[in-house]
Amino acid sequence: MSRPRILLVYPYIEDFAAYDHFAKPLGLWMLMDMLHEKADVAYLNILQRNLPELGLKSKADGTGHFYEQVIPVPESLSDIPRRWKRYGIPESLLYRRLKNLAWKPDWIFVSSGMTYWYTGLAYTIRLLREVFPEARIVLGGIYASLLAEHAALQGADYVIPFQQPRKVASGLSELLGISVSAEGSIPCYTDVEEYAYAPLLLSLGCVFRCEYCASPRLLSFEALDISRTIRAFDWLYEEKGVRHFAFYDDALLFRWEKRLKILLEHVLQKGYAPVFHTPNGLHIRFLTEDMASLMKLAGFEDIRLSLESSEEEFHLTHTQKAKREEFFQAMEVLSRVGFSQRHIRVYTLVNVPGQSLSSVEKTMQCIFDAGALPMLAYYSPIPGTPDFERASMLTDLSDPLFHNNTVYLYRSGIDVSYVQYLHQIEVGYRHSVEKM
Ligand code: SF4
Repeated sequence: MSRPRILLVYPYIEDFAAYDHFAKPLGLWMLMDMLHEKADVAYLNILQRNLPELGLKSKADGTGHFYEQVIPVPESLSDIPRRWKRYGIPESLLYRRLKNLAWKPDWIFVSSGMTYWYTGLAYTIRLLREVFPEARIVLGGIYASLLAEHAALQGADYVIPFQQPRKVASGLSELLGISVSAEGSIPCYTDVEEYAYAPLLLSLGCVFRCEYCASPRLLSFEALDISRTIRAFDWLYEEKGVRHFAFYDDALLFRWEKRLKILLEHVLQKGYAPVFHTPNGLHIRFLTEDMASLMKLAGFEDIRLSLESSEEEFHLTHTQKAKREEFFQAMEVLSRVGFSQRHIRVYTLVNVPGQSLSSVEKTMQCIFDAGALPMLAYYSPIPGTPDFERASMLTDLSDPLFHNNTVYLYRSGIDVSYVQYLHQIEVGYRHSVEKM
């Protein structure tokens, strides 16, 4: 039997705002790793930013704006006073890249992210169908797992409604008629064409169960093969010249001695000088002085912590991941090993159902007084979570477009001018520290 020819695609995003802050489709990269031996695989990230014809600039760490076009806002969002955009390469370039593929795909696997991005996904599937009418299209990813029935309406032939690699591998084996294994899989780095920074993933899933988060509902915690990751790291650093690395783990510090510690000791032993980023935020509870000290030595410049709120009430209702006292202890540890205020950012959730805005302001003050900078993160309701049920008491969430954090902000009944005031406080704190 001939090898199946499979095209992996990350689709367009349609939203009021999107930015490449260490945003790479690692799920597709894992899939690429699983399929490489059994199939001919091509990869197309429609959000790719480093194509010369796009003329996009990047910051020193490789992050930056996606290519974007302003498009008409969906009728059902016409009350939101923002411009609606499509993010991703121009269609002319997409057609050219599809037509230049070495072969016509038998299968096209399309990934998905947030539930409220489904219009960009449906648009992508329509374009792919037009170019390859005979290919069978399979839709997977976060949206497909959270809202499988809704995802089935977006034009794909099949929906893979789960994320755990073993389950995905067994679903694909059945669909493709070949044996696909997830054993020892890590993201594939060799065919991705983008090396301004590299995402790293040492484990999947999370060990907590916050009421607003989908992570533990999509994936159980699973460690990935650290020796393969270290070999990939060496290749990225030495062959591709990558210097900025972003961890995508939800539980990076959990049992750190089995993964992160090994990687960082390897980095020091090799004499590398990378810069590490933690866009997902670190678990405060697991942070120890040994760990923080090794992180500082190995190249963590900025630390991001997940606190979300300093209010006890918030932790009782929505999350058990960090108590206020644990935050203060973590701050002492970070300060002792040499992280200064401008290099410690602490996520602060805004507009979680039932949360008062004055409690957000108190949290920001608490974070700043403790020697860090608050970073506002705007809540969006995620189906399948307890907080989604609470949010649906406040506004209509029947269409996934309404899960968008901007839409929810305007419709949940919150005082938007107070939110703008909180944003000014956030910026003010940042500027005051930059002047020091
Ligand atoms: S700790 Fe973070 S990743 Fe884990 S469940 Fe809570 S919000 Fe999600």
